[in-house]
Amino acid sequence: MIEPTDPVQFRAWRQQRVPEAGPIRDGVHSFPLPMPSGTRLTHSFCYAVEDDRGGIHLIDTGMSGDQNADVLAGHLRGIGRSTADVATVTVTHLHPDHIGLADHVHAASGATVLLHDRDRQGLATLRARGHRTDPDTLAQWGVPADRAAAMLAADHRDEGPLSSVPTSPAGDGDVLPIPGRRLEVIHTPGHTAGHICILDADTGLLFTGDHVLPTIHGGIGLGGQTDANPIAEYLGGLERLAPYADLEVAPGHEYRFRGLAQRLHTTAEHHLRRTREVAAALRADPDLSVWDVAMRLTWSAGWANLAGFYLLSALSQTAMHRSFVQSGRAARWLQSDPLQDAAPTR
Ligand SMILES: [Zn+2]
Repeated sequence: MIEPTDPVQFRAWRQQRVPEAGPIRDGVHSFPLPMPSGTRLTHSFCYAVEDDRGGIHLIDTGMSGDQNADVLAGHLRGIGRSTADVATVTVTHLHPDHIGLADHVHAASGATVLLHDRDRQGLATLRARGHRTDPDTLAQWGVPADRAAAMLAADHRDEGPLSSVPTSPAGDGDVLPIPGRRLEVIHTPGHTAGHICILDADTGLLFTGDHVLPTIHGGIGLGGQTDANPIAEYLGGLERLAPYADLEVAPGHEYRFRGLAQRLHTTAEHHLRRTREVAAALRADPDLSVWDVAMRLTWSAGWANLAGFYLLSALSQTAMHRSFVQSGRAARWLQSDPLQDAAPTR
């Protein structure tokens, strides 16, 4: 059972509005920052952690822009601080709704911005090449030639500006430089290759970014292409959180909750349903191309109605599941979900 732990946040979520800022623990605060209207989410969370020397440390920052910079300044004023007091910013992943204001905070305070190496690399690659799909990839996927041109022409992904803030690496097992506290980095790749969660075992909090959210699924493989299989990595990342299933979850969106064991299981299942469908198609014919597999899957809009960006995204999803199955790494997950009986083992 998912149990919302913050009535203010939960009420705001039900009313589809941005919640108020508030304390979570002694010296730990949630600072919601609005997302642009028209996106399916009302806000992303910045979390502020006070150290024992008067410094402030942020986990994620929300979208960039003057308006959000003012909102953040207001939240900091609310706890008697200013943007100039920020000593470090730890970013869960490279997406603009998490890293966006890091640039502004860094300029105002000189704060060190910490990001996992694979997302630092991802940002550099996206800056150099953009999100555009390689025409060769479409050929490898078996996309019919008469469809490929239209798909490439529709390949305009506007996911917001790419951050150019200078970053330092945050690696798995690292303890964040927050005097008087012990917050530990857990690398949970999948949503992006360098996605991290932050464990605050002393106060019983787990900051999960977009890796695990209470009601929605953040998507997989959204940080540019990598050599690793994002589905395999993502499911492995869910397993990594199982030992902490008794902690309160402070996610990147929506609201705080308890019930992580259940959420890990339903999140894995959400993706494994697709893996099973792909595995069944490949059992019937192991030589199917990505295109051939995709047309055999169920799509809520209907396969025939998928076009442009949605078709590209459907194919890229199919390609990830297909290589997950073909690599043999899916077998263990398809027999029985290892997260079925996830229980805290700390
Ligand atoms: Zn997000």
